[in-house]
Amino acid sequence: MPPAPPAHPAGSPSVGPEKSQLLGPAEVRDLAELLNLTPTKKLGQNFVIDGNSVRRIVRIAGVQPGETVVEIGPGLGSLTLGILETGAEVIAIEIDKRLAEQLPHTVGLLQPDARLTVIRDDALRIMSLPGAPTRLVANLPYNVSVPVLLHFLEHFWSILSGVVMVQAEVGHRIAATPGSKVYGSPSVKAAWYGTWRTAGSVSRQVFWPVPNVDSVLVAFERSATSLASEELRIATFTLVDAAFQQRRKMLRQSLSSVFGDSRTAAGIIEAAGLEPTVRGEQLTVHDFLAIAEEAMRD
Ligand code: SAM
Repeated sequence: MPPAPPAHPAGSPSVGPEKSQLLGPAEVRDLAELLNLTPTKKLGQNFVIDGNSVRRIVRIAGVQPGETVVEIGPGLGSLTLGILETGAEVIAIEIDKRLAEQLPHTVGLLQPDARLTVIRDDALRIMSLPGAPTRLVANLPYNVSVPVLLHFLEHFWSILSGVVMVQAEVGHRIAATPGSKVYGSPSVKAAWYGTWRTAGSVSRQVFWPVPNVDSVLVAFERSATSLASEELRIATFTLVDAAFQQRRKMLRQSLSSVFGDSRTAAGIIEAAGLEPTVRGEQLTVHDFLAIAEEAMRD
């Protein structure tokens, strides 16, 4: 039987007793001790120990009562409890067996009426969910944050918006637009699925253990591009990868590997209404899409 959760849920002086259903530093420490858990870097295990930060994330995400939210990597449940206290339902995917088994017990004690489903698996392998979540809210494991995010947006079309906490460097890259130094293949691929913005920074002091890097919140709203066909998405992503493999080269050169030679590439780029001499880092996802459409017409 899994160990009992802490008997004294965290409160903060500014919230009433009905709101004191989150985990604070003492509860996180107690739970980790009960589970004999030493957080691992490999799984990006940095747990949030501050209820105010949790409520801020949930507020920015705009979680609504009655909706279904998917959370990747719930850990000890810090963010899960914050989402659940709004009255939303949560589907949580956790790879760590001890954490996945404990979570329903923790939630059962602190918020007995909450609706939670825990799936114990690697989020990258999840191809179906028991429900149709409309929002994604997560403090993502840093080592797989971008692939996990893209995987969920690719496979779960019901997700229309969300907020994720990621390493600052990764967050700025995801939300970057053409012309920015950090604009790259993850920025364009993320833009395929939606519009992104950074939505505030998070101090490293709100985590246990304290990480070596800063974190940011990144918010997104799904866009129409993501509803294009799978064939078109793959064609577009192939162009994006080729363009950013040689990001300083002119597009007609960087795309020559895809189209056979630079002359053919130039013809397709021009037909799509773009200059073959531009560089990939100057193009939006819509530009890449236009080239892919043009190539598929041939
Ligand atoms: N949500 C919790 C919080 O905010 O305190 C924990 C966040 S912690 C940064 C990341 C969590 O993701 C850990 O619980 C870790 O075990 C889990 N995790 C790591 N890799 C995963 C994967 N591939 N699939 C699902 N969960 C994963």
